[in-house]
Amino acid sequence: MKIAVCPGSFDPITIGHVDIIKRALPLFDKVVVAIGYNTEKKYLFTLKQRKQFIDEIFKDDDRIVCDSYEGLTVNFCKSINSKYLIRGLRSSADFEYEKPIAMLNHSISDVETIFFISRPEYSHISSSIVREIIVNKGDASQFLPAAVKY
Ligand code: ADP
Repeated sequence: MKIAVCPGSFDPITIGHVDIIKRALPLFDKVVVAIGYNTEKKYLFTLKQRKQFIDEIFKDDDRIVCDSYEGLTVNFCKSINSKYLIRGLRSSADFEYEKPIAMLNHSISDVETIFFISRPEYSHISSSIVREIIVNKGDASQFLPAAVKY
């Protein structure tokens, strides 16, 4: 079985993430949306909330599941027998950030990173901008799947 891991903070998941996950699905039997958890990091949404949003969005497709992990992403991949990571690229800045991580991940494991170029209409959407809007009492709903409630 071909399993891909789509890792991220998903704080919160946006329509940009959902698009990448759906576009990756035809290549795999299963896509695990993996919420990376760092106890040192501050999040806007709790891990439980972030998982609930993702479970709700993909509840009708059992090939997409949500899990969470602490520590190295490649160790999580190994633990669930996945050799593929899915990441989205919105810009050259994303590429420069992702390139050394993908190289390192491949050096320390046999995990390959597969990149999807974001749709132009989603390339300005980021969880950090969404959080900024929410914290300042704006309306971020156009960037979010209906399941994300705040
Ligand atoms: P991280 O904290 O690891 O950056 P994120 O949850 O912000 O996690 O993002 C996870 C992945 O989703 C990253 O590969 C990121 O580039 C991608 N991504 C985020 N927003 C978009 C978007 N609007 N379009 C395409 N990919 C995106």
